[in-house]
Amino acid sequence: MKFTVFTYDSERNSRIKQKLEQKLMKENFMVDPHDPDLVFTIGGDGTVLRAIHSYLDAGKLNKVKFIGIHTGHLGYYTDWLPEELDELILFLTTYELQNYRYPLLEAKLCAGEKTRYRYALNEFTILNAKRTQHLDITINDMFLESFRGTGVCVSSPTGSTAYNKALGGALIYPSLPIYQLTEIASINSNAYRTIGSPLIIPKEQKLILESENWEGMTLTQDHLALDISQLTAIHMTLSDQHVQFVKRKDGLFWNRVKDHFL
Ligand code: NAP
Repeated sequence: MKFTVFTYDSERNSRIKQKLEQKLMKENFMVDPHDPDLVFTIGGDGTVLRAIHSYLDAGKLNKVKFIGIHTGHLGYYTDWLPEELDELILFLTTYELQNYRYPLLEAKLCAGEKTRYRYALNEFTILNAKRTQHLDITINDMFLESFRGTGVCVSSPTGSTAYNKALGGALIYPSLPIYQLTEIASINSNAYRTIGSPLIIPKEQKLILESENWEGMTLTQDHLALDISQLTAIHMTLSDQHVQFVKRKDGLFWNRVKDHFL
């Protein structure tokens, strides 16, 4: 099996990387950063996001499986700790590997007739730090509301514990085929009104965000940011594309929530 290790330069991470590579090569795994079957990440959930985007950009996401080794506390995408490398190798060489597939969010960015697609594992936010942003929000051909405020966050099930949580969104069990819209500082007055509550949207329904003025708008895509001043609309949905993880077992989600937040 071919593998690579993705991490950020720190002395500690480099040492763990070296140790892991040696242990894997002893078991006849081969290093191949260009065409790996397994991508080990060493760091936090943020490191996993960066690794995923590098394989997404290279068009290799379908083929690759990720295994996260967390150098702090356990994260939502990271199942192993650095002191568990032997246990991890035993797990990889003994068991038939179970893949867990987490869906990406898809954003179709429309500028008149021109369209392009972006993908995120945690969330997209659409933000205007310069002025009050107006967004018309439609779900599946039904106009819902005219939003005025800073922006909105659209999160995947696995992204629900990230930015979405800070906005008061619900925590979603990772296997549910749904996505979530949360408001960021909406204006609610006699003049303007929005629903206020986070909305849970089924995968088969499309969310459309439109505005007559996108000047000053930014789209964040996980850790990345993009100027979207030239757009006319964004169509969002939960994508058919997935990220594959090799995990110990899926039942850990509520344990993670408890350990992480309580
Ligand atoms: P980052 O340092 O890579 O991540 C920021 C924090 O979010 C880290 O503590 C990270 O955990 C945690 N995180 C990432 N994905 C998570 C998930 N699915 N569930 C729970 N926690 C998660 O920061 P960044 O480069 O700016 O952006 C990456 C992510 O940060 C974004 O996707 C967004 O979700 C999050 N973010 C959150 C806020 C907020 O809560 N107000 C604001 C901006 C961005 P680790 O320590 O394990 O890496």
